Parts: sequence; structure tokens; C-alpha cells
Amino acid sequence: MTDRTDALAVLMGSIFRLEQDGQRVPCVRPTIGHWWLADDDEMQDAAVTACLTCPALDTCRGYVALHPEDGGVWAAIYPPRRGRNRTGASR
Ligand code: SF4
Repeated sequence: MTDRTDALAVLMGSIFRLEQDGQRVPCVRPTIGHWWLADDDEMQDAAVTACLTCPALDTCRGYVALHPEDGGVWAAIYPPRRGRNRTGASR
């Protein structure tokens, strides 16, 4: 596996354990998970806001800092397109 694949596996494992412990990771909620990959600005805003409540935020932030993703909202960071390369309020 690559470093990126290994790091993503660590993040996904963390998300899985949090969910098993009863904590809620917003981007894996079936009803709203599509917000993170949406092109719609309002859905992206909602995803960024939800990320700020995520118990995996610090782990996710560490992952995406080392392995930037081309699309979707990650760790309260907007996808880098249309001049919206912004970050949600820091915590
Ligand atoms: S910080 Fe956002 S993108 Fe990262 S795991 Fe949490 S909800 Fe998902």
C-alpha cells in the first residue's frame, strides 16, 4: 500500500471506531453524506459546518494536510475550485 492508502486506512479505522462507540461522524451519515461531494455551494457550506462538529476532525485534518484531496470537503476545507479554496472556522 502507498503512504496515502495507509493514512486513509488509519482515518477510516478511526471513523469506524468512533461510530462503533456511538459518536457521530457527519460525512458517513446516510442522509447527508452526499453534501461532502456536492457541487452545490449551500451543501458544501453545510458540510464544512458539520465537519466542525466531527469527533474525527483532528485526524481528518492531519490526513488531508499530508495527502491533499482534489475534490470534496475534507476536514472543514472546501474543495479547491472556483476560487472557494477556503477553510471553515478553526476550532
Ligand atoms: S472532519 Fe469532515 S470530512 Fe473529515 S471525517 Fe469528519 S465529517 Fe468527514
